[in-house]
Amino acid sequence: MTENPKEKVVIIGSGPAGWTAAIYAARANLSPLVFPGRAVSKDLVPGGQLMLTTDVENYPGYPNAVTGPEMMQDLFNQAMRFGTRVVTDDGIKTADDLPGGLFSMFQNVASVDLSKRPFHVTGDNGYAVDAEAVIIATGAKANWLGLENEQRLAQSGGGVSACAVCDGALPMFRDKPLAVIGGGDSAVEEATYLTKFASKVYLVHRRDELRASKIMADRAKNDPKIEILWNKTVLDMLGDDVITAMRLKDTQTGEESDVEVGGLFVAIGHTPITGFLDGQLETDETGYVILKDPYRSTTSVEGVFAAGDVADHVYRQAITAAGMGCKAAIDAERWLADQGTH
Ligand code: NAP
Repeated sequence: MTENPKEKVVIIGSGPAGWTAAIYAARANLSPLVFPGRAVSKDLVPGGQLMLTTDVENYPGYPNAVTGPEMMQDLFNQAMRFGTRVVTDDGIKTADDLPGGLFSMFQNVASVDLSKRPFHVTGDNGYAVDAEAVIIATGAKANWLGLENEQRLAQSGGGVSACAVCDGALPMFRDKPLAVIGGGDSAVEEATYLTKFASKVYLVHRRDELRASKIMADRAKNDPKIEILWNKTVLDMLGDDVITAMRLKDTQTGEESDVEVGGLFVAIGHTPITGFLDGQLETDETGYVILKDPYRSTTSVEGVFAAGDVADHVYRQAITAAGMGCKAAIDAERWLADQGTH
């Protein structure tokens, strides 16, 4: 039987958490190997959710904003510059032989075996590797309603987004009626946030009771700028280049109505990308990796660390994900040193 190549640190995922972990691990001479993931759909691509964002105005260090894809390309370049290697369909590549940059054909991880050390990581195009330490940074995917016009307007910058904190402050949303879809804490939080910019905010919920915590729900109910549209589902989003209205259906009466909006934010939850772990790491009931110590990146399996949205359903920001990636690389380095492997 042929032996797998041996790696000190394998990083799975390529958002801000993954690349920041790679920068730190590379600078610690760990020569990290990253599985950046494959572009499997329009909203699941190497680089993660930042690839779906237009201007990022809240990441420190970019006073004139930066687009999400530009920022991810910068983080990728920075990680590669210090000796990070990536798994592509054509094998392992370094900075010198990857002209496609972040748009190369990378491999996803198909499966992991975390039952014994070294851990075993297998790509979806057959590349298999043994790893002393693994950093999981696969992120979470925003849930969408699944409407055709929703995807069209979201991808063209047409005023449909799944992240109010990322996009809500853009000039296109100023003094317009906006809508947030959902009834959980995220929806309420986003609706409240948007009141700073919008002329009014519709909170569209499919039931007659919010799922959000009482304090958050009360905040929405008492905010004069928020109007909750109860028992409504979104049938369609109207507008050619930019959304102009949402078509709603009342779940009680079946009545349809068009409501004018200049922007729409879908906040119906996120799904962490943890399926490939096949239950080998402890997760909460919604699939987020549980950190053993909330101040660190350790997980239920010693030698496996987690960073970014895959282990964080609260903040979900590029800056917090990057910070967690930094912690994971330092934790991995210290752990390897304790094991005598670094
Ligand atoms: P969530 O609690 O799962 O809520 C999702 C909401 O979207 C629910 O109201 C749900 O409706 C609705 N929804 C789901 N699928 C839908 C669909 N297809 N069409 C229409 N509506 C749909 O998700 P979340 O709000 O993102 O929160 C996730 C976790 O993060 C929670 O534990 C939350 O407490 C936490 N969080 C906390 C804070 C905070 O404390 N500041 C902020 C954000 C998030 P139903 O209610 O009918 O199921």
